[in-house]
Amino acid sequence: MSAKALRGKPLAEKLLASIRERAARITQLRGSPPRLAILAIGGDSSSQVYLRSKLQACKEAGVETTVEALHAAVPESDVLAILKDLASDATLDGIMLEVPLPKGLDARRIIDAICPDRDVEGVTTTNLGRLYSMKAFAELRSSGVLIPCTAGAAIRLLLETGMDPAGKSAVVVGRSRIVGRPAAHLLTCLDATVTLCHSKTRELASHLSRADIVLSATGVPGLIRGSHLKPGAVVLDAGIHVAGKTIEGDVEHEGAAKKASYLTPVPGGVGPLTVACLLDNVTLSAERRVKAQLG
Ligand code: NDP
Repeated sequence: MSAKALRGKPLAEKLLASIRERAARITQLRGSPPRLAILAIGGDSSSQVYLRSKLQACKEAGVETTVEALHAAVPESDVLAILKDLASDATLDGIMLEVPLPKGLDARRIIDAICPDRDVEGVTTTNLGRLYSMKAFAELRSSGVLIPCTAGAAIRLLLETGMDPAGKSAVVVGRSRIVGRPAAHLLTCLDATVTLCHSKTRELASHLSRADIVLSATGVPGLIRGSHLKPGAVVLDAGIHVAGKTIEGDVEHEGAAKKASYLTPVPGGVGPLTVACLLDNVTLSAERRVKAQLG
């Protein structure tokens, strides 16, 4: 078997084209485009690259951005004060924080200072609580809850294969607040039977060998190999490991491509679609606010 490449770019371009139209409609209705504020604290060079690609995508989609760049040694009280100011800025439709945060800052406290209604990455406790309170995928979609972007991107790619996840066995590797756990929940809402694995999981290979769907988000290069996979599995690799100029995922690509039916490349798989999902959330938030303001 030779896996089909599940590329993020074509889907991202389709989504961005619809965002462009929706952003234009918002501008027409209220006289200003969707607006996103990005708080970047002490970004290293690789996060600068991601920030630039986000800004470029926003520009192309007609989403206005402001970036607040802070030094890594900024006191936590200053960050919280800035987030409070952003929350009181009624012209903003979305507020987001570049991660990882520098050591010494309490990530949970800072994330939860983002105004939940404009938490376009879907990572505040309030937003995740809304997400986890829903059981069916249709309910989740119609509720307008803001879905964490990377998890949402991986699921869009899965659905693109035409596979119905209902009753399938899925393994998610990685249990972080922003990727692994929301991805496991989304798969559960799609009626898959989900096993959530992490660094303390024993016999990861044996879990993987039974999985029809594998979604990995660890940042450990080569963690998942072709020999671990069930023939025909759909493999979604959200992992990113940067070594010099090379970017690797969690999946050892060559071996996995021989066993999987579909496989996301790294780079070029989940990543490009994650940015489009972020802009989709900004636009959703703007649409919701226009509806509340103009009826
Ligand atoms: P975290 O570091 O928060 O979480 C990593 C998870 O991987 C943890 O749950 C950890 O387990 C688990 N893990 C680590 N080592 C192993 C192992 N040997 N076996 C099984 N599980 C393991 O990372 P994030 O969730 O924030 O990000 C995960 C990856 O996704 C990173 O590579 C990141 O760069 C990438 N990413 C990609 C995005 C995209 O757009 N494609 C966007 C955001 C992130 P434990 O909980 O036990 O520590």
